[in-house]
Amino acid sequence: EVRVRFAPSPTGNLHVGGARTCLFNWLFARSQGGKLILRIEDTDPSRFQEGSVGQIIRSMKWLGLDWDEGPEVGGPSEPYYQSQRTEIYQKYLKQLLDEGKAYYCFCTPEELEAQRELQRQRKQPFRYPRTCRNLSKEEVERRIAAGEPHSIRFKIPMKGNMRVKDMIHGRMDFDLTQFDDFVIAKTNGTPTYNFAVVIDDHLMGMTHVLRAEEHIPNTPKQILLYEALGFPVPEFGHMSMILAPDRSKLSKRHGAQSVEEFQAMGYLPEALLNYLTLLGWSPEGNQEIITKEETVKQFDMNKMSHKGAVYDIKKLYWINGQYLQSLPLERIVNDAKPFFVKDGLITEEWLQDEENQKYLTHLVEVVRVRVKTLQEIVDASTYFFKDFDTFDEKGARKFFNAEGVALLKKCRERVAATTEAEFNEADLEKLYNAIAEEEGVALGKVIQPSRLALSGRTVTPGMFDVMMLLGKEKTLERMDQAIA
Ligand code: GLU
Repeated sequence: EVRVRFAPSPTGNLHVGGARTCLFNWLFARSQGGKLILRIEDTDPSRFQEGSVGQIIRSMKWLGLDWDEGPEVGGPSEPYYQSQRTEIYQKYLKQLLDEGKAYYCFCTPEELEAQRELQRQRKQPFRYPRTCRNLSKEEVERRIAAGEPHSIRFKIPMKGNMRVKDMIHGRMDFDLTQFDDFVIAKTNGTPTYNFAVVIDDHLMGMTHVLRAEEHIPNTPKQILLYEALGFPVPEFGHMSMILAPDRSKLSKRHGAQSVEEFQAMGYLPEALLNYLTLLGWSPEGNQEIITKEETVKQFDMNKMSHKGAVYDIKKLYWINGQYLQSLPLERIVNDAKPFFVKDGLITEEWLQDEENQKYLTHLVEVVRVRVKTLQEIVDASTYFFKDFDTFDEKGARKFFNAEGVALLKKCRERVAATTEAEFNEADLEKLYNAIAEEEGVALGKVIQPSRLALSGRTVTPGMFDVMMLLGKEKTLERMDQAIA
């Protein structure tokens, strides 16, 4: 059985990189009938951010990425928070020390800094000079008894190579002489990431470790630990970097990057998930719109790219527009509601009324065709809820000239004369066509002054839809306002 994990450090909210790592682990587990484990890597309280775990979990749920073991759902390897697993790590630290595979290091931060400085001057990369690797047992015991602060370092082989077969990058070779006797437990006793991750991945039964490329340098260290502890080594796969459009490192200046931000901007979880799916993987025939279910069916790890994936927010925007049109109307209406409330166009009480519900549904149906996000649905709807007294400037110059106003007056009279039964999209369209014919002008010429009068804008959904949504009374009132 395939067992993979998503192991975020709670240092903030879930950003696109983390969400993609989570997604591909999820896809791999689901496509293989395996399990996804969620583990919180919170061993370093200085980097911990209050509320972060809740944010990450909320974003995963919003995206529809569920997990089989971990916080909230429990499981056989509880607890799933590394901060609660200290005793477990102690046991294995002791094992390595007893077997002579790890050692106490008494070097002070000042001594290490001096070493670092020395190597910097020699233009060498810092490597711990293994000062404490061969201290006698007596000396170690004496210094511990004397209360000297100490960390624990892992004794790594001082020569040789390691070859790793990465699921995405293929063969990778590492020269072990380039590696340090790295710290596995800090002076305060807490295990480091590289140590805790190995213990947990083993105890939680991971068969594959699928994570971000930035962890490649950690992999040989972790494999050495697996071997030293006598654990079977899982398979590793490292996902390519997400790059900015100019192929630089993605940073804040490249725009929104957290799942919460996209949610707040009115993106749909299906669209974001679809977009993330295309970051580093491609479905058959390079299909761009692909549901999560279809992706699970097609998912093939071998098709993951080892090349950097370019982050293209315009593409996400386009994909979102596709989902906005194709998902069931009821669903879009529901998702759009909080955006309408937030912008003060409607209230919760207003929504209690069934007629209002129907009205909103009709409105969203008409408006969603031309926009790409939930927020844009609201932005394109303000004039249905709020009166206005300014008109698009360019539009007013163009359509509220003498000819336009004359046409608008005529339209106003004819619309006013319609019966209740005639006030519908089809009959209104006939009416405007008739006016165009009578006046010997194009239909657009007749429509534009009315559109501008009703909405203050030059671009709206179909004008007759707009009239229906406003109702006859409001339609006439707005026309009068524009004529006056
Ligand atoms: N906690 C690590 C991170 O957030 C995960 C590392 C791993 O997957 O091994 O980068």
